[in-house]
Amino acid sequence: MKIGILPIGQADEDVLMCLKEKLPNVFPDTTCLVNSEKLSLRKEVFDEKRKQYRSNAILIEIRGYAAEKSDLNCVLGVVDADLFVPELNFVFGEAACPGKAALISLWRLKPEFYGDAPNMKLFLDRALKEAVHELGHTLGLRHCSRSSCVMHFSNSIFDTDKKQSLFCDQCYLQAAISINNLG
Ligand SMILES: [Zn+2]
Ligand SMILES: [Zn+2]
Repeated sequence: MKIGILPIGQADEDVLMCLKEKLPNVFPDTTCLVNSEKLSLRKEVFDEKRKQYRSNAILIEIRGYAAEKSDLNCVLGVVDADLFVPELNFVFGEAACPGKAALISLWRLKPEFYGDAPNMKLFLDRALKEAVHELGHTLGLRHCSRSSCVMHFSNSIFDTDKKQSLFCDQCYLQAAISINNLG
């Protein structure tokens, strides 16, 4: 699988490089690059009432971008802004399931968001988990009931911290089959 990381607006360079380095260790037969282009975070996707950004709208933009990139199997958008979908207070990310487009937000992954001291390792660890989770969805994986599996649904940062950045055996097998089918 070939993954392209696409910054949307201003995104932490260290996070982008960390994801590029670590994602290929999680997925079999996978390479990863950081796209030289980036998408801007448009005013139109900001919801004035909620003071948050529309995840769906950004995902549609990523899908459009990914459709033009025939050399990439999927595009992971990384945004440092608070995202929501209408039925939830916030989301850590969203993805087509299956599909070519995934999105993660760094906003609620920073320890500072919860009043804790900055901690780069924890921040990067959380970003990797959310990235693997959303990319798992692009491979057609659904949520997993095992709380340590990266495909477990995160309702809060506690769930994210509890799970690993790795798939359980069953989810890994499913991911490997999907990647194999990409050809
Ligand atoms: Zn999910
Ligand atoms: Zn699992």
